[in-house]
This record gives sequence, structure tokens and C-alpha cells, in this order.
Amino acid sequence: MNSFNLKKYKSEISKCVKCGTCTSICPVYRETLQESVSARGKMSLIEAFLEGEIGASSILDKRLRQCVQCTKCIEECPNGIPVDIILFSAWRALKEKLPTPLWKNFAFEKALSGAGIPAAAGFLYRNFGGLSAILPVEALKRKVSRRKPLKFKTTKLNSGKKIGFYPGCMIDSMYPEILSYVREIFARLGYEMIIPSRLVCCGLPQMSTGNVELARRNALVNMNAFKDAKVDVIITACATCLSTVRKKYPLLLEDTPALKVYEKFMDLSEFLAGEKGLENFPEAEGKFTYHDPCHLARELKIKEEPREIIKKISAGNFAEADSSELCCGFGGSFNFENYSLSMNICSHLVKALKDTGAETVITSCPACMWQIEDGISRSNSGMNVMHLAEFVLRGALNADTDKR
Ligand code: SF4
Ligand code: SF4
Repeated sequence: MNSFNLKKYKSEISKCVKCGTCTSICPVYRETLQESVSARGKMSLIEAFLEGEIGASSILDKRLRQCVQCTKCIEECPNGIPVDIILFSAWRALKEKLPTPLWKNFAFEKALSGAGIPAAAGFLYRNFGGLSAILPVEALKRKVSRRKPLKFKTTKLNSGKKIGFYPGCMIDSMYPEILSYVREIFARLGYEMIIPSRLVCCGLPQMSTGNVELARRNALVNMNAFKDAKVDVIITACATCLSTVRKKYPLLLEDTPALKVYEKFMDLSEFLAGEKGLENFPEAEGKFTYHDPCHLARELKIKEEPREIIKKISAGNFAEADSSELCCGFGGSFNFENYSLSMNICSHLVKALKDTGAETVITSCPACMWQIEDGISRSNSGMNVMHLAEFVLRGALNADTDKR
């Protein structure tokens, strides 16, 4: 696939003038102070690899993978170097020369790419304790509670608009209650919501192992499923899935313009911010703050919409955290492979969120939720973490309970 051919990026890589802007803002560099993990260091390593000065090795692979994919370096680089696409291309090039660890092959390539958003992903996410015996993954040793889909009574639909929903692996398998909240929000707003049965993982975990071909296959499956469903708009409640669809699918599907279904994708907040019916949702009680997922705020510039919704439903009881620059530290497989480092990155965010005095942190990404929940429990700060979909319904659900 031409878009992820590392050699194609030689001239882009050579645009790195070693100015160091990226080092000052890289969360991994800030923790490690290792030049080789900054975007500047990574560009130098990849350049040396392309010139044949260094060969493929596990050390090179490790350095290039020490990245939380926050895209801060891309935003700040004065020469606009597409660090993320260059890294995906480098991981792909290294995969041709180095064996993929067994656990990664199983978790990211086999389990997450089965038919339907797979039961195997549920097994993976919900049985971390058991899997930790065979997988070398620190994060998996934590006990993760089994969550259940919720049941609501609202079913009345009165709109001709068909809304497709793409849950993604994290919601489908680890936070199924978010799917229930989204379904209930659309039911209360009068929309029909459709989830095609053939959906698979968005493809980002496969791109992270360097298996771009498998990611493309997943993109094709997902786009064909939504094309056949003939929906008007496709909503996600996962910042990572949305950024993959909007930013990577055009590259993965470069030669299949008929599948531009990805243009119909929207974040839940983008859709709800323009919904008049939201004014009828009762206010939620409490004091709230919001965490910007990197993939949503930085990559897709979706910042105002979630705040608009929160301010509307929280009666203005919203406190902005001094954390717009802070990443949660999850970074897909980064958390699995660099657990302590990942949690150190998260600790700065947790402190900023705690300093707001808010009781509840709202965010728009299940991966951020997972990480912040972990960070908060490690800091004993006692805050709650909530997806925006749950927040939107909180007041309405409390009102329903009061009536009973
Ligand atoms: S900001 Fe861009 S040009 Fe400057 S060192 Fe980093 S990657 Fe190179
Ligand atoms: S994407 Fe983020 S973590 Fe990765 S190199 Fe750039 S600034 Fe560092």
C-alpha cells in the first residue's frame, strides 16, 4: 500500500531541522528524557534505518514504539512532518524483518480481527486476570469488572433519519453500558439506530503491529457494512475509532473511492451539539470537568462540542481543568508494554483533573476512561469517570428514578 511505504517519506523525514520543538511537548520524552523517543529522535533513527546505517533490531523497534500517539509533535512541528504516518510505515517495514510477539499477534491481529466485533475481544478485555498468566502485560494483571449492557424502557421512534452506530472494540467488549446509553439517547431524541452485524475492529491496533494490510481489510469490511445499511450518518463514541476512520481510512482505502462512507462518521458530541431535543434532557447534578482525548481534540479539533453539551446539561457547574496539553498515557499497546511509564504520564493528568474540585471527570473515549479510572484509583482521589453518553442521560435517569 503506497500510503504506508516508508521509502516514500524520505523527503518528509529529511525536513526535520532538529529544532527540538517536539521534545518539549512529547509526554514520553518528558518522563524519560531520552532523545531517541522524541519525534526528532525517531526521525533520526528512521533516517539511519533507511540509509542502511542501522539495521532492524528489537531496540530500534522498542524506541520507535515508545509513543502514545498523542499527535502533539505533528501539531507543533514547524515543518508539518506527518510523524504518525511515518511511524506506522516504519512499524510496517520492521514487521517484515522482525517477528511479532506472540501475544500481540494473538490480541491485535487474531482476536480483534475476527468476524463481527468479536467475542474474543470481550474475552480479552474481561478476563485480564486469566490472560496475565500467558501474556507479558502488566496492565492485564489488574482486575477489570465485568460490565453489563443496561436495559431501558424507551422505544418510541418517530424520525425517518437512520443513524448507524460504530461501537468499536472497547465499547463493544469492555464498556457495553455506553452502547446502552447511546441507544437510549437516540431513542429519546426519536432516531432509529442501526448497528450492522458484520463490523470489525477499526484497524488501529493492527496498524500498530505493522499489519497495515489487515487494517485495510478491516476498513473495507466496516465501510461495506455501513454502505449496505444505507444509513444517513454514522456515530461513534470512541475518539480513537473516529480518528482512525477520518484520518487513516482515506489512506488505507486510497484506491477504493466508492467506499467513502467514512465521510458520514461523526463523534457523538458533534451530532448532539446541534440537537435541539437535548434541551429537554434534565440537568445532571454535581460538579464536572472534562478530559480532551488527544485523538478528538488534537487530531480532529473537536473541543467545543462536548463542552457545549456539558455546560448545557450541568447548569454551568463545569470546571475547566488545566490539562489541555495532557495526554492520559494509554496509547494503545503503549500501556501494555510500558505500564509504569504510561501511569506516570497519567498521574499529571489526574492531578490537574483533581485540582478542579470536580466530582466527576467526563470524557469521550473509552480508552481514556480506562486509563483515567486506573490513574484515579491509584491516586485515591475518589473522583468518578463517566463517558459523555452517560453524562447526557444522568439527569434524565435520576428523574426517572425519583418518579418511581
Ligand atoms: S518539531 Fe519537527 S522539525 Fe523540529 S525537531 Fe521535531 S520533528 Fe524535527
Ligand atoms: S505522538 Fe506524542 S508521544 Fe509520540 S512522538 Fe509525538 S509527541 Fe511524542
